[in-house]
Amino acid sequence: MSDEAERKMQFLYALRSKGVTDSRVLTAMEKIDRGPFIRGLFAGRAYEDMPLPIACGQTISQPSIVGLMTQALQVSARDTVLEVGTGSGYQAAILSQLARRVYTVDRHRRLVHEARAIFDALQLSNITAFTADGSFGLPDQAPFDRILVTAAAEDPPGPLLAQLKIGGIMVLPVGQSDTVQSLIRVTRHETGFDYDELRPVRFVPLVEGLGRD
Ligand code: SAH
Repeated sequence: MSDEAERKMQFLYALRSKGVTDSRVLTAMEKIDRGPFIRGLFAGRAYEDMPLPIACGQTISQPSIVGLMTQALQVSARDTVLEVGTGSGYQAAILSQLARRVYTVDRHRRLVHEARAIFDALQLSNITAFTADGSFGLPDQAPFDRILVTAAAEDPPGPLLAQLKIGGIMVLPVGQSDTVQSLIRVTRHETGFDYDELRPVRFVPLVEGLGRD
């Protein structure tokens, strides 16, 4: 077996052993190579199940967490999805394989530009990336079937709850500190919201306003 095939097999094995069992999610993660989303010093470690540093002091999430969050979001092929926290663009690229349309926003212009270049190179034409403070969502594109937030807030931001369709699902990390956070799933019903706590996680914070670069 080639080195690359073996690396890919180990990568998928690590995902399965950490609870990523949804075959559509595994297929998407097999197809989208994590390598192009990581530059510089850490490029050689793209296939390890670890979070890694990216530009602007941010991190690309651990692949198994990307898989578990995507699985919890229960995306279907007709869905319009909003991701808050583009970062490297890897999570958005995975979502693009499962959804009809993906909007992704980051407060750092530089990350959005770099992610767009990768989406273009990979011909992921159903992703639109914006520079914006994602805690306000994207009012012009709302409502969304699914919302995924990849930075931690104290509570689910009100505008994101408001931009979720009835029957819609939002998955996000919440917590009062950088160290103790829970991944939760919010489901919107006719009359309100249901909250499920999924697992402990650790994400960079959701920060107000735009970044300097
Ligand atoms: N999903 C990314 C990892 C995200 S790291 C990936 O697949 O690589 C979290 C990201 O959230 C960072 O890039 C950070 O800039 C962004 N972020 C933090 N607060 C934000 C806000 N209010 N609006 C938009 N993006 C925000």
